[in-house]
Amino acid sequence: MYITRRKTRQIKVGKVKIGGDAPISVQSMTTTDTRDVMATVEQIRQLEAAGCEVIRVAVPDMESAAALPKIKSQMAVPLISDIHFDHRLALKAAEVVDCVRINPGNIGAWWKTAEVIKAVNERGIPLRIGVNGGSLERPLLDKYGYPTAEALTESALNAVHALEDVGFTNMKVSLKASDVHMAVDAYWLFSQQSDYPLHLGITEAGTVLTGSVKSAIGIGWLLSHGIGDTLRVSLAADPVEEVKVGFEILKSLELRHRGINVIACPTCGRVEIDVVRMANELEKRLGHIRTPLNVSVLGCVVNGIGEGKEADIGIAGGEGVGILFKKGKLLRKVPTEELMETLIQEVELLAKEKAAEEADDVAAGSHGNGSSTPSPHRSANESSSSLTRDLPVLPQKK
Ligand code: SF4
Repeated sequence: MYITRRKTRQIKVGKVKIGGDAPISVQSMTTTDTRDVMATVEQIRQLEAAGCEVIRVAVPDMESAAALPKIKSQMAVPLISDIHFDHRLALKAAEVVDCVRINPGNIGAWWKTAEVIKAVNERGIPLRIGVNGGSLERPLLDKYGYPTAEALTESALNAVHALEDVGFTNMKVSLKASDVHMAVDAYWLFSQQSDYPLHLGITEAGTVLTGSVKSAIGIGWLLSHGIGDTLRVSLAADPVEEVKVGFEILKSLELRHRGINVIACPTCGRVEIDVVRMANELEKRLGHIRTPLNVSVLGCVVNGIGEGKEADIGIAGGEGVGILFKKGKLLRKVPTEELMETLIQEVELLAKEKAAEEADDVAAGSHGNGSSTPSPHRSANESSSSLTRDLPVLPQKK
């Protein structure tokens, strides 16, 4: 697959760069009542622990806006306020947050947006223009009859042009719809006409299963065509799941490398161990590791090492005794009942070794060139691997 990222402008949401050659960042949104500072901060901590790089909170009223300073003071990643209808909430939020999301379809008269621009400009923070299929402006609905990709694109371009007309360019754009085709077409159309960074998402995608599939198809298609600078997978679930799925989409396209990638065989009649249980347990117990590692769980030794040679480390089941292998080479035989714990210990060890190597590389690279220490949520490996993947050259036919 060929992926060349579309060139976009770069903006900064707090310390996170979005657009240009910055890694495609993973966002999520809290589901708590924002007025409940303790519950919101607790969920933010869970999202941060899962690797979430930018977190958005809903600000539906002034009480929620008033809670933002306390929330912001207790979090490490950048904070975005999500505003609909009332521009005064955006004005209040802009005093604290790292980015303000407004929806041009429901914010009302232009003077209200102008006040928001003034407020974000004063703090030097960006705006996210968040167009949504469910809340298009009346004139566009009258023109197109119902929400379409063209209507979404026109709404976003209208907002962008209006902001540009007053000299404001510090923005990113989203064009979300729950219909995968509509969202994909809208992002595609917009990306042909504008180079502002894009926040990808399929809105109201559904439960963990349906939402992940829809998002993987929609967001995955766009990313594989080089479109998208940051993303949120919207799920009717614990938002931590959104972060996990977001990274899995990026990992599958080799646009980010982060944490454990469990490779598990589908099992067949030769299976000697409980591959499904083990693979699930591995994902859970090794979820804290940020170092990119491919870990393989194979049901038998028949094709075991061969099938797992792409893995950094792995196990293959056997009758009473399985094997532990590393980079396709047998490390040692292990009794079946000890396979799981042995693998976990070895992965932890390998992750520490790799992290130490990366830290050394970063330290060596930073001498004399003033480069900064990578974010705790991003390994050096990850930063460099998120750049454009070049097209392989196909052999010429003779
Ligand atoms: S590794 Fe063994 S059990 Fe798993 S699919 Fe291959 S042959 Fe079947």
